[in-house]
Amino acid sequence: MVDVIWKPANVLINNLKRKFYGKTFFCPVCHLELSFHDADKDGLLVCPLCGIVIEITSVFGHPLPVVHDVEIKRYQPKMRIHPLSTHLPIGLYPFALLGTLFIFFISIIQYIYLKNGFTLDETILLYVPSIKKMADIFLFVSIIFSTITFASGYYDWYMRYEKRKYRMITVKICFSLLFLVLGILSLFLQTSGLIFGENGFLIINTAGILLSCLYFLLMFTNMCIIATLGHIGGLLVFGK
Ligand SMILES: [Zn+2]
Repeated sequence: MVDVIWKPANVLINNLKRKFYGKTFFCPVCHLELSFHDADKDGLLVCPLCGIVIEITSVFGHPLPVVHDVEIKRYQPKMRIHPLSTHLPIGLYPFALLGTLFIFFISIIQYIYLKNGFTLDETILLYVPSIKKMADIFLFVSIIFSTITFASGYYDWYMRYEKRKYRMITVKICFSLLFLVLGILSLFLQTSGLIFGENGFLIINTAGILLSCLYFLLMFTNMCIIATLGHIGGLLVFGK
């Protein structure tokens, strides 16, 4: 059952990866997957994980990474600011989404119940305004702190990786900016009063439902972006 979703998703991810990374090879020491485009004009690159200096040669079209040296000055992963600062935005964003998803379903169920002359348990309804406020705070803090996370990541790349152009870091920078833009749009929609009313419930009319679809599309897209950022970040800290 899981394969029905996972297999096409895997094909899509691999196709996108080929587009972004181009031809790849594996670091002979830490086995991190690197792009041919990561090398400088002399065909040399420093592995961002283990710090070896690799020369990429091609033998009959097959990549042959040759180890030349090891970078001496290396920052330990725990000394970097970026991996620490990722926890707050990544930790809070899914809870903001869970909160608004809960309100979305409760509002729809209550609407159907009321139409048929029933009411939902009052205790659940009492929680809705608090959950909405909590979701607003979580999303706000997540977006604000993501700017610090981005700045610290950029600083680490500037200092730790000496501004070397790795395809995986280019993807991280582009996705981080996209996360910020979509996050600000989501925050605007969530707090504008166009989707959720003053009492915290979903506004059930055509505009409210359509805007909520756009809002959840943005939120789920950002969840995919967070997963990608976290996955690439994890590879750069822990390897495969
Ligand atoms: Zn390596």
